[in-house]
Amino acid sequence: MPVELICIRCPRGCRLRVDDDLKVSGNSCPRGYEYGIKEVTAPERILTSTVAIRGASLPLCPVKTSAPIPKGRLFDGMDEIAKIEIEAPVRAGDVIEKDFLGLGGIDLVATRSFAKEGK
Ligand code: SF4
Repeated sequence: MPVELICIRCPRGCRLRVDDDLKVSGNSCPRGYEYGIKEVTAPERILTSTVAIRGASLPLCPVKTSAPIPKGRLFDGMDEIAKIEIEAPVRAGDVIEKDFLGLGGIDLVATRSFAKEGK
């Protein structure tokens, strides 16, 4: 059954159609072709969330994966993130967990900096 989707690789937002034989139409450039194939065969997403942080001005530090991960592993990722607690200070871009979920070099990184509070 054909799949219809919007390409999110640029703001133009082309309407794509991917047929059962993986023929892509509606794309205005090769990136849309790649996106259509990937989305139908092995969809991925960047996981964004928060981890607990001690010694900072707020109790949670925003994090994200350094690259998209398979959509089917998002809940595993959330379970893993729920177990993590870090200590301030932290800088945006710091690796919080290396090789997150053993996905071959994708790390979990902080997306906000926090100074150590109270010292
Ligand atoms: S197909 Fe190309 S031009 Fe169209 S939204 Fe995707 S990246 Fe942009």
